[in-house]
Amino acid sequence: MTLSDKIDQAVEILQGAAEAVVFSGAGMSAESGIPTFRDPGGIWDQFDPEELGTGSGLLHTLARHPDRIRSFLENTIEIFLAAKPNPGHLALGAMEQMGLIRAVITQNVDNLHQEGGNSRVLEVHGNLFRQRCLACGQKQASEKVSYLMHIRRTLHKLASLDLAAILRELPRCRCGSPMRPDVVMFGEAVQDMHESFVEADGCSVMLVLGTSGVVYPAAALPQRAKQAGAKVIEINPGDSVYAGIADLRITEKTGRVLPEILQRLQHA
Ligand code: NAD
Ligand code: ZN
Repeated sequence: MTLSDKIDQAVEILQGAAEAVVFSGAGMSAESGIPTFRDPGGIWDQFDPEELGTGSGLLHTLARHPDRIRSFLENTIEIFLAAKPNPGHLALGAMEQMGLIRAVITQNVDNLHQEGGNSRVLEVHGNLFRQRCLACGQKQASEKVSYLMHIRRTLHKLASLDLAAILRELPRCRCGSPMRPDVVMFGEAVQDMHESFVEADGCSVMLVLGTSGVVYPAAALPQRAKQAGAKVIEINPGDSVYAGIADLRITEKTGRVLPEILQRLQHA
């Protein structure tokens, strides 16, 4: 089957279904310039996600190699400042407007689905631009650009990067305690999982976009949807653990395929 045939088939499935639910991963934002964990050539070739992705790993690295944390943060700030929703995100926003998408469940923390126009976004791994109080759990969202600029200025200002300096600079909750970024690190509890399972159980189509499917429990969502009778459409140029359950697998970039699906839906 050609790519064009597969896109037609995706359009047919989406038209024949009640609203779809999206399940996305890092590949969805690759074309916005945010590197995925497991694809070569990104920041994760220079920085070990296991080392920087756990609380204890971070503290350890901060104590031994504060320069590494500084350059990781500097890199990350520039990447997220430059990242805009790509044509794939924008197509999903337009599909929601057409009544075709009910919810987006994402493992990404980059806020790009919201910026692309989706209104119901379940962020199972949190959001980088939201803070959570270390004491009372209160959450507070920040405007992305001013938040990143603030961290950039703070990094420039701090001569040495150590735990005491970082704790001093963390934003404060109304209760007076420091707030941390509300992202889920390895070993921490996922967020919005109950609502995500409800969406997976209730959808008639699940679009699985740019995820390697190895980070659990979120990675189980496509199986849940399939077991509940949904059709599964996967778009991912690389290998995937979902090949066995996908009713349709399109091995191309989401930023290329989703706008094409949208265009055909609009002219169908
Ligand atoms: P992953 O890095 O494990 O896998 C990325 C997947 O995307 C791969 O299967 C790859 O083949 C595919 N891919 C690469 N380019 C693509 C493209 N243009 N279009 C479609 N697919 C493409 O990512 P994961 O499965 O999301 O798991 C990694 C974890 O890291 C997640 O928990 C996520 O929260 C986090 N993460 C988030 C971001 C972000 O917020 N943008 C970025 C990196 C990692
Ligand atoms: Zn608090």
